[in-house]
Amino acid sequence: MKYIPTIGIECHVQLATKTKLFSEVDNDARNKEPNSCVSPVDYALPGMLPRLNGEAIKFAILAGKAMNCKINNYSRFDRKHYFYPDSPKGYQITQFYHPIIGEGYVELPSGRRIRIEHAHLEGDAGKLTHFDNYSLVDLNRVDTPLIEIVSMPDIHSAKDAHDYCKELWRLMIFAGVSYGDLYNGNMRFDVNTSIAPEGSDQLGTRTEVKNLNSFRSVERAIEYEIARQTKVLESGEKVKQETRGWNDATGKTTAQRSKEEAKDYRYMPEPDLPPVNLTDESIKKEAEKLPLMPHDYREKFGDIIASDILEILLDYPELTKKINEVEQKYVKNISNLFTSVLLAEEKSAEYLNDLPSAKQLSDLAEMNEKKELSSTGTKEVFLKMFDPQMKGRDAKTIAKELGVIQENDLGALEQIVDTVLAKPETKKAQEDFRNGEEKVIGFLVGQVMKESHGKANPSAVQQILRQKLA
Ligand code: MN
Repeated sequence: MKYIPTIGIECHVQLATKTKLFSEVDNDARNKEPNSCVSPVDYALPGMLPRLNGEAIKFAILAGKAMNCKINNYSRFDRKHYFYPDSPKGYQITQFYHPIIGEGYVELPSGRRIRIEHAHLEGDAGKLTHFDNYSLVDLNRVDTPLIEIVSMPDIHSAKDAHDYCKELWRLMIFAGVSYGDLYNGNMRFDVNTSIAPEGSDQLGTRTEVKNLNSFRSVERAIEYEIARQTKVLESGEKVKQETRGWNDATGKTTAQRSKEEAKDYRYMPEPDLPPVNLTDESIKKEAEKLPLMPHDYREKFGDIIASDILEILLDYPELTKKINEVEQKYVKNISNLFTSVLLAEEKSAEYLNDLPSAKQLSDLAEMNEKKELSSTGTKEVFLKMFDPQMKGRDAKTIAKELGVIQENDLGALEQIVDTVLAKPETKKAQEDFRNGEEKVIGFLVGQVMKESHGKANPSAVQQILRQKLA
């Protein structure tokens, strides 16, 4: 029997606000001591009251718009109760009944659309590190603003799930609302997977694999779940609704606990925060700040840049934005430099933050297209643009300094060719060529290149040589 998988994904995105969701301490705890970015509000000391961070609301509007979602005029916070040492309050402040972001959709590079059910704002939990007989609690992450994006069960393959997560990540980093640092848990994915016999109008029982932090692990966990559930059904048993954990090393999911239901959390309105009322004008004003999104760039450059190159660029907002600034006729040329030269460099991450200007790049592409620079020369000049000592210099200046400008002046080239052909050591090669030995042309071109100190344009040289020898 053939089974059709149905997948829904919840994604937690940490917002890159300056301060936390409900207090005024630093929200960026990277490279900071544990428990150094914590306020009395985060510790939940008696009498401390949360105050909503307006920047988080603005980021939520941008994130929602990036996903083509409706932004709700009215939203409100609720308490979700659970007891665990990562939450001193004993509850999480979230939006259960009235989320800020309503329905929308994300379009995958393949064109397939995944609908968004809603997305809500909430505070993150602290971090526990477990040892043999004790655990350490770090509250730096408590109430870092999160948006939790809930998809509809519109995904039917592990590959589409991978693409959906990746597209969400791109939308968030292009919108500028998250650092999108997956390694540090800036985005975490919970994956609900079920399978049902082909043609069935009922969904199977689903399992949830929580806290996946890479696109690859999302894909692998789903592949594993589809195979595992198929085996369970084929052996005549039933799939249990449960939460399962993913082990990246073994490539397996294992049962963790049976799934909680909403009633277990005793949701109730958060009495310490007023509702959020947004006017249409204030939503519009924020939404207008949304920069171009990956799908806008696909539309704009789809005919100019090969799709595999474009998809690589779209992993780097800095590169994509720069491409958008250069003269259109050089877009293709510079995209190739970015993807095949810059990204291959060991220091590429550093380079991304300090790209040459659009003008420098356009000039470079122009020299390349006019054959004033060979492809090797173009690459050399391009990389030199990242040298602190060459900072801001134009392509021509750098090319001159490196001595890589190609000689294209046919008159000048002819003179050099004549000089070489007059040399006794080239006589035999000339004779061989005339006798039909094609391959000695390479030797002669090499001699001319040497004579020109590498500056001659080799294809022009070859052409002149052939004319002279004919
Ligand atoms: Mn959540």
